[in-house]
Amino acid sequence: MRVVVVGAGLGGVAAAVGLHRLGHEVTVLERGAELREAGTGIVVMPNGLRALDAVGLAGEVRGHVMHATTGGLRDWRGRPLLITDLARAQQEVGTPAILDRAELHRALRAPLPADLVRTGTSVERLEPDATGVSVIGDGGPVVRADAVIVADGIGSKLRAQLFPGHPGLRRTGRLDLRGMLPRPAGLATDLLAAQLVDRRSGAMFGLFPVGEDRLYWFTDSALDGTPPDATEARRRMLALMADWHPLVTALIEATPPGDVYVDPIACLAGPLPSFAAGRIALLGDAAHAMPPDLGQGASQAFEDAAALARHLTGAEPADVAGRLLRYDAERRPSANRIMRAASRQSRLTSRTGIAAWLRDALLRAVPSRLATRQLAALWHA
Ligand SMILES: Cc1cc2nc3c(=O)[nH]c(=O)nc-3n(C[C@H](O)[C@H](O)[C@H](O)COP(=O)(O)OP(=O)(O)OC[C@H]3O[C@@H](n4cnc5c(N)ncnc54)[C@H](O)[C@@H]3O)c2cc1C
Repeated sequence: MRVVVVGAGLGGVAAAVGLHRLGHEVTVLERGAELREAGTGIVVMPNGLRALDAVGLAGEVRGHVMHATTGGLRDWRGRPLLITDLARAQQEVGTPAILDRAELHRALRAPLPADLVRTGTSVERLEPDATGVSVIGDGGPVVRADAVIVADGIGSKLRAQLFPGHPGLRRTGRLDLRGMLPRPAGLATDLLAAQLVDRRSGAMFGLFPVGEDRLYWFTDSALDGTPPDATEARRRMLALMADWHPLVTALIEATPPGDVYVDPIACLAGPLPSFAAGRIALLGDAAHAMPPDLGQGASQAFEDAAALARHLTGAEPADVAGRLLRYDAERRPSANRIMRAASRQSRLTSRTGIAAWLRDALLRAVPSRLATRQLAALWHA
């Protein structure tokens, strides 16, 4: 069966490898001039790793498991609000992996034969008919397919075409900064997988170890107006966090502006009515773009890829639409549940004033055992 995957991001590549391994004739169309992923660190949660296992891709990624035993939320000075026992959650459901985005993308695309990929090819629209789908690029028709997997990311042009009544993206009013740097000697290990929140400003700073010798940090704060460039965003963050735990400003200061990534955060304004339309299926951010607060975006894309591979095992052109409906029935409820949970988490950590004071009081009262169980349930999703 001829399958076209539109978009060679993390989700598209994982799906393409899975479908190629099933023996389908796969073509990947990517608008970028080359196959690459830029950015800093990325967390692949245990559910994402299990999905990668299902398409035979977790091997190298599992070599980057997280080395941290406690996590949870702390206040801006580093004082505990809600501590989770990561070691216990890992025993129950597995350990997350943390790696460089570029390394992850390289590991995922390694098994994909180069001649299946056409870079520099922007897909403008899809024209389905009774016998297949014509995939149309900016220079005209590109290819015919029996099935098309839309993996063109958060700004998906094809999603808008398939669901013209859907409101599309909404800005959350938050700005994320991220950086990665060598791990300083003598770092306090209790802060290694912590998130610090500040009820005065609603800002957040998080930290993860990447292997033994690097650190990945990220911040989230309110964005008013136009997103600043990296130099200005870093300057503002240092001013905002000047009286936080000294590690916070030390790590931001140690990261040159050129290594700081700035993202105004957006997510789907509401769930899609379906992840499938005839012979076309949506996957990853195209289907369920969510705030990054649970670190689940890519893991959900990997779950989509694994589900697609399962539902398209042995598929023939004549039964694709029915199989994609079963993919939609399996994936849409759970991906949308995670999307809603990510929005809730974003609202929780960005509260200010009395609501944030109450949040902190409540978090201090939640038993660590319960929080650890909830975390394990999320990783199990
Ligand atoms: C600040 C931040 C931190 C995050 N941290 C994490 C984390 O720790 N863990 C996690 O799991 N997730 C995280 N995420 C989310 C994660 O990055 C995404 O969910 C994931 O990358 C989505 O993959 P994708 O393949 O769906 O889309 P993308 O990676 O965006 O790939 C889409 C691809 O499609 C191509 N494309 C677009 N349009 C076209 C077209 N018309 N024709 C052809 N090609 C096209 C693009 O060039 C791109 O290569 C984070 C997100 C942000 C913003």
